[in-house]
Parts: sequence; structure tokens; C-alpha cells
Amino acid sequence: MTSVAFLGLGNMGRPMAENLVRAGHAVRGFDPAAPALTAFAAAGGIPAGSVGEAAGGAEIVISMLPAGRHVRAAYLDAGGVLDAAAAGALLIDCSTVDVESARVVATEAERRGFAMIDAPVSGGTGGAAAGTLTFMVGGPAEAFERARDVLEKMGKTIVHCGAAGTGQAAKICNNMILGITMTAVSEAFALAEKLGLDAQKLFDVSAKSSGQCWSMTSYCPVPGLVPSAPSNRGYRPGFTVDMMLKDLKLAQQAAQQAGAATPLGAEATALYQLLALSGAGGRDFSVMFPYLSGWTVPGDLV
Ligand code: NAD
Repeated sequence: MTSVAFLGLGNMGRPMAENLVRAGHAVRGFDPAAPALTAFAAAGGIPAGSVGEAAGGAEIVISMLPAGRHVRAAYLDAGGVLDAAAAGALLIDCSTVDVESARVVATEAERRGFAMIDAPVSGGTGGAAAGTLTFMVGGPAEAFERARDVLEKMGKTIVHCGAAGTGQAAKICNNMILGITMTAVSEAFALAEKLGLDAQKLFDVSAKSSGQCWSMTSYCPVPGLVPSAPSNRGYRPGFTVDMMLKDLKLAQQAAQQAGAATPLGAEATALYQLLALSGAGGRDFSVMFPYLSGWTVPGDLV
């Protein structure tokens, strides 16, 4: 079975790496946070003391890191992945990062003889634990085919989006839609409240009409309408305001660099920034509804 190095054993990375251990891979993991490493070792992983030690000789290197600067450092710094990994190794970055960082690292990896893909995910920590993540992959078709086997052990839906960076592009475009639709649904329910229209009635109409979308029917921000939604649990995440804000900012950064007009993405970014400033960064991103409707903040919300 292929030897794997896994960098970043946080909320997402550890359950993903543990699925590979369960599938029979020897997985050498590194995370600067000692508790993450200890928990990984308890699940059968092999702890390493540095990026280079984890990546040394590995046939596949997977990373799940916070942001672009961590990815650039892990791969490009002296003693990092590009210095340590076995010649011709397959490199898979699953972190959500800016398109520019993804392209810079992939270009340098390719120049040094490695095959690299960006493969950000959706599905959250639940999907990571269950092995049902969606992978959006950017990079050469050959590298995608080489990665398929290992990605299938961590996910269910795997889509090749195109050249390097297009996985990240798919991720931020999708999440920009999500940030905008969550804001739109929240605004509509806040208006309905002011107009004396019962939330259940608006739901019954819109869920079957042209206003229907995932933010409404799978993740409704108004309590009491979709039982599994975080709105019924005091807006505990789920997917936090801080994470939504990170992805919206990445979309804005990419739009500026590419010269794209994304006025609603810009507005959603500003609104999520305000929510974060109000202290709700750790709450589920559907907290947009009580925020826009002027509700008294429930319990320990902020
Ligand atoms: P996290 O903060 O829980 O984990 C990141 C880990 O990386 C931390 O444990 C940190 O110590 C470690 N790290 C930092 N620098 C490192 C290095 N040089 N080498 C090895 N490890 C290093 O974050 P997370 O929730 O697991 O998210 C990881 C990535 O996945 C982010 O890019 C995030 O945007 C993305 N993502 C998260 C979710 C989610 O629901 N949590 C969903 C989709 C995508």
C-alpha cells in the first residue's frame, strides 16, 4: 500500500488522515500542535517531528492547512515538501487557499518534477469523518487519475475541474453563491416577519417556487422549519461565520485579480465581516437571519 504523508491534523485533516490509516496506508503525519499529533498516533498514525520528516520518502503527500501562507511555507521553504518528498511523488493540497498560492506552488512543484493537484473539499468535519467529502480538483489529468484511489478513501464525489487552481476556483465560486443565497434567504424571512407573513407560509411557498435554494430548504436560517439546520441549535456550527468570511474574502481577492464584477459577493463579504466584528465569528453562518431581522441575540450568541 502506498506510503502517505499528511500535513495538518486539525478538525478536517485528522479525520481524513485516519480514514487512510483505516484503509491500510502507512500514514506519517505532522502538525505543530502536539495534541493533534498525539490523537493521530492513538488512531494508528505515525507521528513525525517536522514537515520534512513526514514528507521524507513519501509517495503521496497530502496537506490540509489553514491558509495560503501555510501551504506556501510547507511546500516551498527549505526542508519542506519539495525538498523532502520522493522524486516524482504525488502532491495533493486539500486546504482552501487563494487561487494564486495554489498556482504558484503547483508551478514550482511541476518544475521540480512532482505531480501536484489542488483538491479543496466541501462537506465539513462530518463529511471528513464519514469519508463522504466532495473534492474539487485542479491540475493535470494524469495527476488527477493517480490521486483518484486515495481521494476515494476520503470522499464520495470527486470532480476534475481543469488546470491547476481550478479546484480552488470552484470552491470559492460555490461558497460565494452560498454566502449570497444565505443572505438573500435571511433578508426575505426578515421582511416577511415585518409584513406579518408567517415564516412557515413563506417556506411552504418558496420551497416549491423560484426562490427555492439549498440555503432555504436544507439549511433554513429561521428556526423550526428544517429540523437539521443549525438555526434550531442556537446557531452552533455547522460552518462558522469566520469560515464563510474567509472564503468570501478569497473570492473577492480572486475577482479583483481576474477583473470580474462580483457586487453581491462584495456585499455578502461586508455583511459577514460585520457579523464577525459583532462577536458572532464562531457561530454558524446562518446567524445572518437573526442579525438582519434585529432579533435579540439568543442566549450566548455573542
Ligand atoms: P484547523 O485549524 O482545525 O486545522 C489546521 C491544522 O494545520 C492545525 O492543526 C494547525 O496546527 C496545522 N498546521 C499549521 N501549519 C502547519 C504546518 N506547517 N504543517 C502541518 N500542520 C500545520 O482547520 P480545519 O478546519 O481542519 O481546516 C483546514 C482547511 O480546510 C482550511 O483551509 C479550511 O478553510 C478548509 N475547510 C474546512 C472546513 C471545515 O468545516 N472545518 C470545510 C471545508 C474546508
